[in-house]
Amino acid sequence: MAEYLRILIVGGVAGGASCAARARRTSESAEIIMFDRGPYVSFANCGLPYYIGDVIKKEENLLIASPELFRKWFNIDVRLHSEVSSIDRIRRCITVKDLESGQTHIEPYDALVLSPGARSIRPDLPGLDLPGIFSLRTIPDSREIRNWIDQYHARHALVVGGGYIGMEMTDNLLKRGLNVTVVEKQSQIMPIVDPEMMAEVHTALIEAGVSLWLNDSVVRFEKGKGHRLGVTLASGQHIETDLVILCIGVRPEIQLAVDAGLTIGEHGGIQVDAQMRTSDPLIWAVGDAVEVQDVVTRAKSVIPLAGPANRQGRIAADVILGRNQTFRGVQGTSVVGILDLVLAFTGPSEKLLKRLGQWDGLEKVYLYPGHAAGYYPGANPISIKLIFDTHDGTVISAQALGKSGVEKRIDVISMAIQNKATVFDLEEAELCYAPQFGTAKDPVNLAGMIAANVMRGDIALAHWEDIHATEALILDVRTPEEFNRDHVDEALNIQLDDIRDRMNELPKDREIWTYCYVGQRSYYATRALTQHGFDVKNITGGFKTYLLHANGNYKG
Ligand SMILES: Cc1cc2nc3c(=O)[nH]c(=O)nc-3n(C[C@H](O)[C@H](O)[C@H](O)COP(=O)(O)OP(=O)(O)OC[C@H]3O[C@@H](n4cnc5c(N)ncnc54)[C@H](O)[C@@H]3O)c2cc1C
Repeated sequence: MAEYLRILIVGGVAGGASCAARARRTSESAEIIMFDRGPYVSFANCGLPYYIGDVIKKEENLLIASPELFRKWFNIDVRLHSEVSSIDRIRRCITVKDLESGQTHIEPYDALVLSPGARSIRPDLPGLDLPGIFSLRTIPDSREIRNWIDQYHARHALVVGGGYIGMEMTDNLLKRGLNVTVVEKQSQIMPIVDPEMMAEVHTALIEAGVSLWLNDSVVRFEKGKGHRLGVTLASGQHIETDLVILCIGVRPEIQLAVDAGLTIGEHGGIQVDAQMRTSDPLIWAVGDAVEVQDVVTRAKSVIPLAGPANRQGRIAADVILGRNQTFRGVQGTSVVGILDLVLAFTGPSEKLLKRLGQWDGLEKVYLYPGHAAGYYPGANPISIKLIFDTHDGTVISAQALGKSGVEKRIDVISMAIQNKATVFDLEEAELCYAPQFGTAKDPVNLAGMIAANVMRGDIALAHWEDIHATEALILDVRTPEEFNRDHVDEALNIQLDDIRDRMNELPKDREIWTYCYVGQRSYYATRALTQHGFDVKNITGGFKTYLLHANGNYKG
């Protein structure tokens, strides 16, 4: 039975629109009004980079649902160009400003839902307001960028920030035929994942002609010749460009909540409980504006992703209408396409876990299985890093990079994490298989098998980052040809074929660390040597992982 009847929703895109539609599906009697200060509701902000890249040709294709559709299908009153400027919590009403007429009016509520999203961060830099410097958040933003590119026949763009929107913009600007420079403050693109996972992406970007300025940042924008801009970096580098796109992240849109005295969390998002209720029991908040709990680390964070925003909107609607739903939290499952590569991940990175002091008792494995059967034309490797808890094998997180089938594997592991599954469950997972889609032992199974081998004590692991500190004998079991091409200093080469015949050359009183190219042959060697009484560890991920760790620009 609905306790509240007049439901007002601020923000009509991912969280707001899904909340409104869900509320109507749950209650035919509630009055539902959705306000958005923009000219559209329910538009595909995730599609904006592809509209700029001309992959999505028509602007109207970005509109998922119109106000008319909301009215006809759901009897929801959508008010566009309507900015909610304040909340009076005592009188339970909001002030709405019509941005076209400039007039304001009051709307009372029984339940209020805030889904105002986030705003793009615009750093306080000289020249920031010059024409040609854009952020990307709305359809009008994307239209302006498209128009600028067309009007000035732009040939070069500077993307500031190498996160996922920066990468989607880079990819789409390249598709439009522009030359692209990317400036990123950190030492890697996509700082949310671990650096070794990005080495191949750096290489691919450079090979595609992208100028990458890592460990660098913009300090000044200046007007150049005509429409052009001059950009100075902290390194002193000067770049001339036709346009700049700022992709340095977003901040929760909290002004309305702050002014209304709602509690804001320590990460700058609106604080909500598991039922998406704010510090006021009649006000809910969802989406990019709120702080949520990471289900793995238990840390609070703001995670601007469309999936959580949609799910939170549904939960807020259910709770308002008397259903006892809770939001389970987030694990940051994401995917991004960069050139012909796909990067996907779920759960925290190794560096985040270390930063939070949560690495103790965890272990990681690297593997590079094919996305399809090796004999099938077009099979490509997927680089996978799986992190798990050595106490009970619980899956903690995974990162994967490849050309095909990447997000499928991460989605499976995401569900494993959600269900607190272990590496033994991954080992046993029954997954689709036909040669063009996978292997009979799917990459997810293989990740589970390798980790389960560790859990069962069948294999001990070593890591490349520890190699300089170890006294162990480093044993390279690749062929002499591979060894001669490149190897780790001081490594002894006995190829797998000869391992049983040449065991007498190996010490029993010294630890041995084995490696091959990706860790498979060295696993076989490790098992053989262990059973013959040697003290052996397998360096997870093999020489390929060594190169990814060692060279940000490894050409794999
Ligand atoms: C370019 C781009 C690409 C993205 N790609 C992906 C992706 O591939 N995958 C993914 O998971 N996520 C992606 N996201 C993030 C995703 O779009 C957001 O996480 C999601 O839209 C958040 O939903 P929301 O309802 O919180 O906010 P939004 O969808 O941003 O909606 C907020 C709305 O509230 C309105 N509003 C704000 N304040 C007021 C006010 N006071 N009064 C009235 N209206 C107000 C705003 O005008 C806006 O329309 C992308 C975002 C962008 C910008």
